[in-house]
Amino acid sequence: MKTFAELELTEPVRRALVDENYETPTPIQAQTIPPALLGRDVLGCAQTGTGKTAAFALPILNRLGKHNRKAKPNLPFVLVLAPTRELAIQIEESFSTYGKHLRLRQALVYGGVGQGNQVRALKRGAHILVATPGRLLDLMNQGHIQLYQLEVFVLYEADRMLDMGFLPDLKRIISSLPDKRQSLFFSATMPPKITELSQSLLSDPVSVNVTPKSTSVDRIEQRVLFVERNGKQALLKEILCSPEVNRTLVFTKTKRGANLLADKLVRSGIRATAIHGNKSQSARQRALEAFRRKQVQVLVATDVAARGIDIDGITHVVNYDIPVEPESYVHRIGRTGRAGAEGIALSFCSGSERRELRAIEQLIGMKVPLADNQPEPRREASSNPSSGGRKTAQQGRTPRKHGGSQGSSQRPSARRAGEASGDESKPKPKKRSRRRSQNRTRSVKQST
Ligand code: AMP
Repeated sequence: MKTFAELELTEPVRRALVDENYETPTPIQAQTIPPALLGRDVLGCAQTGTGKTAAFALPILNRLGKHNRKAKPNLPFVLVLAPTRELAIQIEESFSTYGKHLRLRQALVYGGVGQGNQVRALKRGAHILVATPGRLLDLMNQGHIQLYQLEVFVLYEADRMLDMGFLPDLKRIISSLPDKRQSLFFSATMPPKITELSQSLLSDPVSVNVTPKSTSVDRIEQRVLFVERNGKQALLKEILCSPEVNRTLVFTKTKRGANLLADKLVRSGIRATAIHGNKSQSARQRALEAFRRKQVQVLVATDVAARGIDIDGITHVVNYDIPVEPESYVHRIGRTGRAGAEGIALSFCSGSERRELRAIEQLIGMKVPLADNQPEPRREASSNPSSGGRKTAQQGRTPRKHGGSQGSSQRPSARRAGEASGDESKPKPKKRSRRRSQNRTRSVKQST
């Protein structure tokens, strides 16, 4: 299959694709859309950002568009389960985009907000229901959703659902589905638990695996910078001030760390905001919108934002903290380099994070290259995480061009000496000499 025009899609769906300038299906779309159009179950394994949403949305819209049926109250025809609210919102938006020439109704159901509007939307009737598991079960228990009329069930980012502890909820939901249905199951990775779940869910599926293992996205340039915790903030600011660094997603380990770092950036004149699970849904949406609309340059996030969030033009992803789960690395860096674009992923690795870095390198099957002019970190850095910023942060060098492909200016010695970091657990360094501060300021200016 070469183009969408060659697929047996109905005219309104095709027209929406033309509107979106989609001509060629992505590999996952090319392999899953034809069997899904025939009503087959599908097991699709592909990384985020590879076009999975359209891979299931197009056959569904095609199917619903063929019948001119009214949606019945509380009885959806299609259920799409997503692990996070952001993803659910995004999927619903994609259905609106691809289905804009069809007269179909959608409902969106997720937690963290009042249920009134959601209940009303369900009562009006929705052909397609996009939901997160917790709120879906809540509303099912209250009798606002019945699934006996369901025709298509989609499980999106199944591995993430399991990571988030949704397996018991999932099992309960799956047990309420009618036996006769089409099931489309998508995951970025296929660990054994996912395979097991897919076997209980799918009947004679077409298996499509466009990423045999969870490898990093090739078009993303990855670099590691060895820097101690108390040097990370200054290094980040320096990087953010480089002209080639535009929209940047920064990942921290903790929610508090994300807040503190975003505040510190704002105080230094960098437009930044934070997103994490402790923020209300409306605050999370506001943060995403501000980032999407380029009102802020930097979004500081915990892993809640790592999956599937589709924002074009993220030039850089910065792992301010190395993720504890190696798979998260793949998902985090996948936020850049979307839809064929190139992206740069920089990881700040302190002595105490070396083990996590090694686990990542094992998973992706390669060593993350050092940023240019980075010396190999000294051995004692990993074996002595308690060593102070002054000694171990000497390892930190930053690339002049943060694409990593250009040379680098020397890192300022003052920064090596450390500056208060955004990490809550790190005590502030006692004193910094005036000379060091001056050095630092000068050096940051040089690099911008
Ligand atoms: P997804 O993996 O579904 O989040 O999609 C990633 C990005 O690729 C989104 O911005 C989509 O709009 C875009 N996209 C998906 N399929 C295609 C396609 N066939 N041609 C061009 N862009 C696409």
